[in-house]
Amino acid sequence: MKFGGTSLATTKLIETAAARVADIHHEGHELLVVVSAMGGVTNQLVGYVEEITQHHDLMEYDSVISAGEQISSGLMAIALQNLGVPARSWQCWQIPFRANSVHKNAEIQHIDTTAIVANLAKQRTVAVCSGFQGLTEENRIATLGRSGSDTSAVALACAFQADECIIYTDVDGIYTADPRVVDDAHPLKRISYEEMLELSYLGAKVIHNRAVSLAMAYNLPLWVRSSFGDERGTVITTGDNEMEGEIVRGVTCSQEEAKVVLSGIQDQPGRVASVFTPLATAGINVDMIVQNATQQETTEVTFTIPLNDVVRCKEILNNLRENIGFHDLVIDKNVSKISVVGIGMRSHSGVAAKAFQTLAELGINIQAIATSEIKITVLIDRKFSELAVRSLHSRYELEKAG
Ligand code: ADP
Ligand code: ASP
Ligand code: MG
Repeated sequence: MKFGGTSLATTKLIETAAARVADIHHEGHELLVVVSAMGGVTNQLVGYVEEITQHHDLMEYDSVISAGEQISSGLMAIALQNLGVPARSWQCWQIPFRANSVHKNAEIQHIDTTAIVANLAKQRTVAVCSGFQGLTEENRIATLGRSGSDTSAVALACAFQADECIIYTDVDGIYTADPRVVDDAHPLKRISYEEMLELSYLGAKVIHNRAVSLAMAYNLPLWVRSSFGDERGTVITTGDNEMEGEIVRGVTCSQEEAKVVLSGIQDQPGRVASVFTPLATAGINVDMIVQNATQQETTEVTFTIPLNDVVRCKEILNNLRENIGFHDLVIDKNVSKISVVGIGMRSHSGVAAKAFQTLAELGINIQAIATSEIKITVLIDRKFSELAVRSLHSRYELEKAG
C-alpha cells in the first residue's frame, strides 16, 4: 500500500491512511506500506536548497530532499501503533534499499528483504518504508526522481513477491484525461501496462512512469485507488481484446517540453549524428525528431527536449557549432505535447486523421508529430494545451468510456 503526498498532507490524513492500513492488517493480510513525504514538504525542501544556491552538490541536495519521507514514515508508524497495530518505520539505509549514484534520478539496484521479513514475523509488525530514497555504494542517499515513491512501492512489491501493489492517491483511479483539466473525464476500470506507460511518459502525472515499466516487467497488478473513498479504482495490467475494442483510451498533455530547431545544417551523412551523439552523452532525452526537406544542400532538424535541459542543450550545441556546422539555433519554450493513446489503434485506421482534423478546426497549428503503434503525439503552442485536450477528449467520445 503506497500513500502519496496529498493523502498524507496533515497528521489527520496520516491517521486516516493508517486506519485503512489497520483494516487490511486486521483482515489478516501481510502488508508493506510505502510513504511519500507529506504534501508540499519535498517542494519546501527543494526551496531551501535553492535559496542558498542553484549550483548545489547533488549528494547534499538528495540528503535534504529525501528527508520528507523519513518524517512521514515515522508518523505513519506512530499512527498505526496508536491504533494498536504493531508497526515500525524503515529508511532506505536500514532495509537496505540500494540504488545507483545517479543523484536526483537514481535507479534501483537491489532490495534486501531479510531484515523486514524477520521483523514482519514478529507479531506481524507492519513495515512502513520511506519511498523516494535509495542507498548508494558510496553510502549516500540518492533520490529516484520526483514522484519516485510510486517506483519504490512497485520495487518493494516485486522484491517481496506481493500479490498486488496499490497506489492510494487523491483521485479514484486512472481517468481518460486529467480530471483537473477535463470535467467529464472518466475513471477506467482497467488499462494496459503499455497504455499507462505511454500516458505517464507523456504527461499523466498520476503515476511515475518507471513504476509502470517495473510493474510490467514483473507482471505485477498495479492498482490506483483513492485514499478517501471506497471505489475499487483502476487496475493496470496486461492488455486484452476487450481493451482493444475501445480505440482511444486516454488523452494527455506534457508542458515540460521545449522545441529545438537547428537550421542550415549541411545535408551530408554524419551531420545528424554529430548533433545527437553529444546530447545523448550528456543524458539529454531527445524526442519528436523531424528533419525537413533539403533546400540548397542544407537542411533543418527539429526536436524536443525536457524543459529543464534547455540551458545545457544550448551550451552543448553552441560549443559544437563549428563541428556540426549549423547556421541557427532557436529554442522555443512555449510548446506542449498533446498525446492520444490506445492499444486499439494497432488495428484501426483514421485515428490520427481525426486528431489532426480536430486541431485544424480549432485553428491550432501542429509543429511536429510523433507516432507509435498505440499513440499519436503532436507538438503545439502551449497556450492551446487545455483546449486541445478537452476537444480531443470529446472528439473520441471518451466521456462515455468505461
Ligand atoms: P500523489 O500525491 O498521491 O502522488 P499525484 O499528484 O502525484 O498524487 O497524482 C494524482 C494527480 O494526478 C491527480 O490529482 C490528477 O490531477 C493528476 N492526473 C493527471 N492525469 C491523470 C489521469 N489521467 N487520471 C487521473 N489523475 C490524473
Ligand atoms: N516526495 C517525493 C516528491 O515529491 C516523491 C513522491 O512524492 O513520490 O517528488
Ligand atoms: Mg505522485
